[in-house]
Amino acid sequence: MFIKAFQRSIGLMQATMLLLASLIVGLSLSAFQIYSVYQQQQQDINEKTRTIIGLSEGGATNAAWALDTRLANEVLQGIIEQPGIKQVEINATLRNENQQLLARLDKEQPDYSALSQWVAQLFFTEKLTLITELTIVNQQQPLKVGTLRVEFDSVHEAEKFVRASMTSLGIILLEALLIGLILFFISQWFITSPISRAAATIEKVDPDELHIDDQKIHVPTMHKVDELGHLLEHTNQLLDRLKISQSKLRHLATKDPLTGLANRTLIKEFLANMIATAQRTSGMVAVIFIDLDRFKHINDTLGHDMGDKLLKYVSIALLRQIRDQDAVGRLGGDEFLLVMPTKAITDVVGMAERILQVLSKTITIDSYELKVNASLGIALYPNDGDNADTLMRCADLAMYKAKEHKTSQWHLFSEEMKLKVEESLALETALSGAIRHHELEVFLQPQYSVEGMRLAACEALLRWRNNGEYIPPQKFIAVAELTGLIGEIGLWVLTETCRIIQRWGDQAIPISVNVSGQQLADESFVNDAIDIVQHYAINPTMIEFEITETMLMQDLDKSFDRLTRLRDKGFRISIDDFGTGYSSLSYLTQLPIDALKIDRSFVSGSEQSSVVLDTIIALGKALGIHVVAEGVETEQQKLALIENGCDLLQGYLLGRPMPVAQFETDCLGFTETGNLVIEGLATQTK
Ligand code: C2E
Ligand code: MG
Ligand code: MG
Repeated sequence: MFIKAFQRSIGLMQATMLLLASLIVGLSLSAFQIYSVYQQQQQDINEKTRTIIGLSEGGATNAAWALDTRLANEVLQGIIEQPGIKQVEINATLRNENQQLLARLDKEQPDYSALSQWVAQLFFTEKLTLITELTIVNQQQPLKVGTLRVEFDSVHEAEKFVRASMTSLGIILLEALLIGLILFFISQWFITSPISRAAATIEKVDPDELHIDDQKIHVPTMHKVDELGHLLEHTNQLLDRLKISQSKLRHLATKDPLTGLANRTLIKEFLANMIATAQRTSGMVAVIFIDLDRFKHINDTLGHDMGDKLLKYVSIALLRQIRDQDAVGRLGGDEFLLVMPTKAITDVVGMAERILQVLSKTITIDSYELKVNASLGIALYPNDGDNADTLMRCADLAMYKAKEHKTSQWHLFSEEMKLKVEESLALETALSGAIRHHELEVFLQPQYSVEGMRLAACEALLRWRNNGEYIPPQKFIAVAELTGLIGEIGLWVLTETCRIIQRWGDQAIPISVNVSGQQLADESFVNDAIDIVQHYAINPTMIEFEITETMLMQDLDKSFDRLTRLRDKGFRISIDDFGTGYSSLSYLTQLPIDALKIDRSFVSGSEQSSVVLDTIIALGKALGIHVVAEGVETEQQKLALIENGCDLLQGYLLGRPMPVAQFETDCLGFTETGNLVIEGLATQTK
């Protein structure tokens, strides 16, 4: 644990290192000091010896010469009183050279510590007994009269040495410790703390929030010009550069390149922030979804350049309406979103009215006088939802409600609409598992040729059985488109259709497959379709892709390119629900299509719509393509369509959409053994 803390903290590491270094230096110094003490003590012993000899040599010599025991004892008494002397004796040298002990004195030993005794044994063994020869000069000849023997107390000396050494060691260690501590505090204050503070600031730097200015690292005044100051300055410069490149990236990623307004991501972020603030302040947020009414028409007739200019004009007009606290963004195409914190619904309605008024003015662009109207959908936080996604969805739905009116309108999201949103969210979850759980099924609806009412083709219509009940395609196809699931679902329908055609073999009739605009917008759709028909070895002419007129017109250039590629591969193409969109005649002549499917409303409609019906049939004839009527429900309608020259008829009168097995027996005439009897053709095959 200590090692981990040590590795993580420069301060701790530095303190330990300084302490170790000062200890090493301190110990080396005290070794030297102790050695000096030892030497000094040796010198002291020598000094003391000389003093003893100097003081007592005369008396001792006289005592030995006169064999005076009393004098000898007096001299010895003087010596033994000196500290550190253990034993003293005077021996007299007799005429026969023999030695005679004249006097001896011993001093009682105190209780020495074990350490002192040990040190004495190690270092104080030599030179601790001094024997001095006592001589007189007789007839100018030195005459030895005796000896003076002084035995020093080695343990006493050792104890003095130990005491002195301990004191010196203690002082030096304390000194080293103090220096270590002082150095530690200085470096802590001068280097480690500024680094730690800088590290803490850098740690707090959030790369995603670099626009916040207080994330600059403080450079302490005392470090302004030193290495640490340079390091911190450079880090600040790097952060600045990062901020600039991040804001550039942010701009690119969050701004709509055409109008410079916030894009979907950014406006959603603004909305989420406003909701968060409103949550804290118990406020309200309004979301206004703005859709231009005739933009597609202007774009198609006057060109994209004009369309772009118009969008720029609208974005400037919207920006002029908003307050500082509001935000406006472009979601794509001709859809804009305005988000505003508000206190009263009347303010929001006021804003909606102003926008409608501004946009309804006639504007002049490149000498063209244009008039765009808009439809506005309004949703409110907290009434309609508590998150950006839900509120945007609600405002979108409200906008569709506004669009139902002929004139420019705003529409508030209602309770009833709220239920719709909740339902679509629930559907979205359920639909994501539909293929995996085998809940999808293809139904077939027959199409009859007016010539002899012969079964000529059929349309594949998707069915979803969820929890035992069928959910109508109008409901779930929209959800699938909204969530992007339509791609996977569409390919599943095509695969099922190919399998059916493969099973029918020689008796196969063409099957129409509905394609959503979103599928067509997907780059990989054409290749996926080709792969699937190749996989089942199906002739592409057996598949007719139906694309609704409204979808087709949404991105005509792309649709045109993809439909051409599909048609070149042999697939047939028809325009579904024809008459409900805004196809211009010039496009119709260029589009690679094989058939027009007249929308049901014209087949079952009034006299007025029967005029449209006649016109569409005539148009088909003029273009040299087939005309299919859908929604034929009565005998009367059937006869009228035949009379008018329609080519194919489809409707409840002739056959409802039905499960494949039923279609095979009821329409294709498969018997249980696999016999096929097609009405009118009267063929019988295996
Ligand atoms: P649609 O392609 O126009 O299909 C014709 C619709 O009219 C079908 O509704 C059909 O059941 C209904 N219909 C046919 N004859 C009559 C009639 O005589 N009277 C009446 N009242 N209705 C008739 P359905 O099956 O509910 O499909 C609705 C729409 O859902 C389709 O309209 C099509 O746009 C879409 N759809 C269905 N299946 C798919 C699919 O696999 N992919 C895609 N993208 N859309 C699909
Ligand atoms: Mg269809
Ligand atoms: Mg249709």
